[in-house]
Amino acid sequence: MTSAKVKPEDFDWNDLGFAYHELPYRYRAYYKDGKWSAGALETSATIPVHEAATGLHYGQQIFEGLKAYRRPDGGVNLFRPDMNAARLNRSAKRLMMAEFPEEQFVEALKQVVQANADFIPPYGSGATLYLRPFMIGQGPVVGVHPASEYVFTIFATPVGAYYKGGLTPTAYVTNEYDRAAHGGTGQAKAGGNYAASMLPGHEAHKAGYSDVVYLDPRLHEFIEELGSANFFGITKDGQFKTPKSPSILPSVTKYSLLALAEEFGMQPEETAISINDLDEFAEAGAMGTAAVISPVGSITHNGDKHVFYSETEVGPQTQKLYDRLVSIQFGEQEGPEGWTVDVPLD
Ligand SMILES: *Cc1c(COP(=O)(O)O)cnc(C)c1O
Repeated sequence: MTSAKVKPEDFDWNDLGFAYHELPYRYRAYYKDGKWSAGALETSATIPVHEAATGLHYGQQIFEGLKAYRRPDGGVNLFRPDMNAARLNRSAKRLMMAEFPEEQFVEALKQVVQANADFIPPYGSGATLYLRPFMIGQGPVVGVHPASEYVFTIFATPVGAYYKGGLTPTAYVTNEYDRAAHGGTGQAKAGGNYAASMLPGHEAHKAGYSDVVYLDPRLHEFIEELGSANFFGITKDGQFKTPKSPSILPSVTKYSLLALAEEFGMQPEETAISINDLDEFAEAGAMGTAAVISPVGSITHNGDKHVFYSETEVGPQTQKLYDRLVSIQFGEQEGPEGWTVDVPLD
């Protein structure tokens, strides 16, 4: 393996996409004989995997995604990493994988950020250090049963501001595919859900849409998710609504926006949202760590295009929620207790 390691001076922080760059350090811990190793930073970007690992054959793969944000005072924030720690363990339970101690998870994130501190983009660039914790089933297994060994690892890569100008709406489309079944693994952040979404996503892109609006797998009537982001709509009288379903991924961004919508008096509600009732919404958006909010310009369903606020401009309520959340993440504004976690740098 040749090393493709990068140097901080290789980066133009104002012109970074969402791509992998091999940074010097990643964290690894190994589960064997019923317990986790202490965990340590490692320099190799490759993981030796047994040919009979369940992570290769039977989809025992779970992951997380969050960011480290450079504050105006030069310090660094993590945003609600306890939520990611808890979600990883809910995913682990569903896929019968080893749970990872939540305190160790947050400590490990801090170690990866500290070790790669030269690669945390500067405040004001809008860029961040993306963190990707994940776990796979390891060791020789050939029958269908859970692995007895696991690798937990976290790598980091600098990623650019999602929006170079202002927030820009995009177009979405429904199709005949399902992302996850009720009772399936939709609530787990599992690799297999993403494999299942690639063909539908590809077909939507080919047809000129930014992603798929997945509908509930039973009736194909209620909105589930938009690609790999949760959906929200803001009604004409200013209520914030987001789908409630047993097969969507509980987004940290969603729960954060639900709390901020409450602050703004928007009477937030998790409820069934029919694809036939889009007229009740003045604005709509997709929520997730990567973009925080992607405004939804339109949804095309059975050939009919429904336009929300505008196909080219973000609505005022969406902008207000976005600004508030991003300012908390970057440490410009105080947020609710415990939302930001300082990463001490020396
Ligand atoms: C990760 C993910 C999201 C967004 O969750 P955040 O915690 O807000 O980043 C939404 N939907 C799916 C399917 C996801 O995997």
